[in-house]
Amino acid sequence: MPIFPVSHPLLKRFDRWAAPALALVGLGLLLLEARHPLRRRTRPRPERWRRNALLAAPSLPAARLTLLPAMVGLAQVAAPRYPARQLARLPAPLRLGLELLVLDYLAYSWHRLLHAPLLWRLHRVHHNDLDMDITTAWRFHFGEMLASIPYRAGLPALLGIRPATVLAYEAVFEAGTAFHHSNWRLPLALERQLVRLVVTPRAHGIHHSVVHRESQSNFGVVLTLWDHLHRTLRLNVPQQALTIGVPAYPDPARQTVAQLLALPLAPLEPWARPDGTVPERTTLL
Ligand SMILES: [Zn+2]
Repeated sequence: MPIFPVSHPLLKRFDRWAAPALALVGLGLLLLEARHPLRRRTRPRPERWRRNALLAAPSLPAARLTLLPAMVGLAQVAAPRYPARQLARLPAPLRLGLELLVLDYLAYSWHRLLHAPLLWRLHRVHHNDLDMDITTAWRFHFGEMLASIPYRAGLPALLGIRPATVLAYEAVFEAGTAFHHSNWRLPLALERQLVRLVVTPRAHGIHHSVVHRESQSNFGVVLTLWDHLHRTLRLNVPQQALTIGVPAYPDPARQTVAQLLALPLAPLEPWARPDGTVPERTTLL
């Protein structure tokens, strides 16, 4: 049984249905954020878009050729084991609901791990984008895709979650990631309702703040339930008050694609600007 069955029928179905649907979601969000922008841009679009596209160029294929096949391959290896047989006794809708909840919780907990020192080496490449829009949703170091395989493909397999459910959730995960990174200004009243259930652009904007306390909040990918439960939900920062990025990297000249690709090997910097000052939010919100 191959661990990376890149042409498995489930993956072909993902390519045929989920990939075009996700491309449409991305295009729709691109148009919406251009028409109804949420935060003011600080950098010219072409500068960031070129850089984000060049970072996505290896990371999207890395996800398709390693992470997604591993989700299927490892599940097949683990399928005959105990938890899967227990799950199989549940009524079908209950099993599916439980599987999706577990997968979303794994996405939340993986994101928290990405902010721990070892994985922050990779994840800071995503966070030091100086503005946040739909292209930030694809700005990941390809190493982050590879590093996520044991957790995001191995754990669901060990827990007996079916590969079809894992891939279906992956499509929802990607759509959620595109949505909450977009710079789309939803009507505030609507977003206040939405954020009770799902991660929204304003909530995730706070996660990308240069203020450390704010970056340590809103780790959810699809549901805000996990941030509620772990008390990591923070919604009290207006978007106009946010500075997006990582304080050690305010200079776009230090963000060439080559520098960003080599960043995981660079030493970890303190959470401070190059002059040593620490971004704080002094006004009470
Ligand atoms: Zn993050």
